[in-house]
Amino acid sequence: MEKSLKLIIAFFSVVLVLFVGFFLFKHQSNASNSSGWDYQHPDMWKDMFPKDCAGSKQSPIDITFGDDMVTKQTMEFIWNNYQNPPENMTLTNNGHSVQLDVQWKMNHWIPYLSVEEDSPEYVFSNLHFHWGAHNTEGSEHTINGHGLPLEVHMVHFKREYKTIVNASNYQDGIMVIASFYNVTSKNSTAIQDIINAAEKVRDEGSSAHIDNFLLSDFEVLRDTPSWVSYNGSLTTPRCLEVVTWFLALKPYDMTEDQIKKIRSLKLSHGDDHDNRPTQPLNGRKIFYYEFR
Ligand SMILES: [Zn+2]
Repeated sequence: MEKSLKLIIAFFSVVLVLFVGFFLFKHQSNASNSSGWDYQHPDMWKDMFPKDCAGSKQSPIDITFGDDMVTKQTMEFIWNNYQNPPENMTLTNNGHSVQLDVQWKMNHWIPYLSVEEDSPEYVFSNLHFHWGAHNTEGSEHTINGHGLPLEVHMVHFKREYKTIVNASNYQDGIMVIASFYNVTSKNSTAIQDIINAAEKVRDEGSSAHIDNFLLSDFEVLRDTPSWVSYNGSLTTPRCLEVVTWFLALKPYDMTEDQIKKIRSLKLSHGDDHDNRPTQPLNGRKIFYYEFR
């Protein structure tokens, strides 16, 4: 009897040690994640991730309408499946942004786009926000040196590369559609769809299901008189130079109340913004498009 009691105590001691060990490990690995890069010292990314963040084709950039701009007018944007109702939408505060991930019932319902008929298809992967502490800053790209309060990134990967992770290995692997928002008296319904759940994801690492809405609610699908495009990088480490950027030039409307809700999200390291400073163009061309 006494022997079996000792065995039981020994067993539970081992279980306890494993449990405590697991939680210490988990806590440490979380801590080491958040002790990484931040937005207060973006100049340090080059030292932390020298292979790519110190590269010559980095993003974001300042868009100026000068000699680097090449005018092209013959291209068409083809959005497919963005009007399909999702099966599930999840909003996550990953400490560097708030990200929307979406699932559809069938694979062939997933949104994708191409920039011309018969050109490669890029499949929707996720959508996230970049913002700042004041209305004069927040966007990652700037236009003639001016920032806007919010920039939304719709991230897509090239279909032939199968996954976003694999696509990140190729120079033409990722396409990001960027749109800008200004603070006015008009509400954005698409932004509202997301910030309805902002309170549930206020803390870093938190995640919540949100009420399904259509990605076609985003203004960029309906109202884009002009675009610019250039080749650049992801704007977060590892800063991989694998992105074809398309920026919708006309800013859309959102209210002061909406941007305040976004600013109430807590980022890692107490960051109050998640926009990387603009990077040198280094001779790259910027293409300008107008669509009918
Ligand atoms: Zn982004």
